[in-house]
Amino acid sequence: MSFEVAKKAIDYILDNENDSNFATESVIWDFIGGEPFLEIDLIEQITNYIKSELYRRNHHWFNSYRLNFTTNGINYDNPKVQQYIKDNYTHIGITITIDGTKRKHDLNRVYKNSSRGSYDDVVKNIPLYLSQFPGASTKVTISSEDIPYIKESVLHLFSLGINEVNINCVFEDVWKDGDELLFENQLIELADEIIDNKLYEGNVCSFYNENIGKPLSTTTSDQNWCGAGMMLSIDAQGNFYPCTRFAGYSLRNKKPIIIGNIRDGINNNLLRPFLSLTRSSQSTDECINCDYAYGCAWCQGENYDAADTPTIYQRATAICKMHKARVRANNYYWNKLYRKLELEGAEKPAEKSFDINC
Ligand code: SF4
Repeated sequence: MSFEVAKKAIDYILDNENDSNFATESVIWDFIGGEPFLEIDLIEQITNYIKSELYRRNHHWFNSYRLNFTTNGINYDNPKVQQYIKDNYTHIGITITIDGTKRKHDLNRVYKNSSRGSYDDVVKNIPLYLSQFPGASTKVTISSEDIPYIKESVLHLFSLGINEVNINCVFEDVWKDGDELLFENQLIELADEIIDNKLYEGNVCSFYNENIGKPLSTTTSDQNWCGAGMMLSIDAQGNFYPCTRFAGYSLRNKKPIIIGNIRDGINNNLLRPFLSLTRSSQSTDECINCDYAYGCAWCQGENYDAADTPTIYQRATAICKMHKARVRANNYYWNKLYRKLELEGAEKPAEKSFDINC
């Protein structure tokens, strides 16, 4: 993205502060897609422009904004990146994606034109990262080939001092016969390790959540699972999307869904179908009446990409057997933990609500 494109996007958003699409108390400027810290000079320029414009316009977001980064962590100790963090510390949020053990991480994260994995170059920056952002979490994604490494990876991340591991299965249809049993076994073995070694004290893994795996009730919210349509995404050419998953580079089978651009603004007629999405408007009766439904997630971009027609109103359910396996392991975890705590007369650990994992 050129600075000119970024500037026009920022101007459009700030010029339209009274538009219902931007009528929020606060804003998150999220640098995601590609590796943001490869472009730290540009990001600094963009940030300075945001800050100066918020000040010049006396905008209500002036002290109510965040700068979010999802990074592979390789350039984290770069002096320019470090200076940027220092300059913006009170407004910044950074997630370094480290997937677990070296063999798990290097399975997917290799340098371009090389078979070398990036684990060693990322893990060396974790102590610095945690010293600057104590309590930082990471985000791990599981696909079929990763299943055997789930237990060791979560335990390894805890041992590095990353106490919150957000982890989820990909929504794409990659799952082979038997994957759900391997997955369930990994989660049960991980549960044993966490409970037997009291790792639940101070660590959380998002796979285990007391609230999931129940049927929907009449009081369950019908709202869409994710925020597609409520988080404007802008590509390098200045096109607008309801989420980065609707850009061409994210899609396998369907055309991109562009809802505007930096010159013409948002086309609300193209955005409206996203704002009308609910659970019931895109789920089958099987999903609505499912005994495991609570916490069974979907990705709007994958729904669209996997649908039989170019619709966003058909929920993809490739994750079905994996969710059910997760629920079984989750029940095992909480049963075992409560029995242990009861025997010890101890209190249950504080509950934690997790971000939605896209
Ligand atoms: S995808 Fe499967 S587990 Fe999820 S709600 Fe639908 S039927 Fe239930």
